[in-house]
Amino acid sequence: MRAVAIKKGQNRVKAADFQEMGTLRCDGCGEEFVISHQPAFVDKGIAERQAGWLEKVLAEEHEREKKHPDRIELPD
Ligand SMILES: [Zn+2]
Repeated sequence: MRAVAIKKGQNRVKAADFQEMGTLRCDGCGEEFVISHQPAFVDKGIAERQAGWLEKVLAEEHEREKKHPDRIELPD
């Protein structure tokens, strides 16, 4: 796993040693997710693409009335 999004405000899951690339706020509920990359794979362009992907995944979870997980693995 090179990149992960971690829900803010919970202490159950942490991305130790990962570099924070930015925060994405869910339009549906306002929960925030921190996008983090492994230090060896830090890439701003990829982080922006992943933010767009994550936005869709979060919206889909609202459509299916699913709770957001604390940790979401991001595609490369
Ligand atoms: Zn949401």
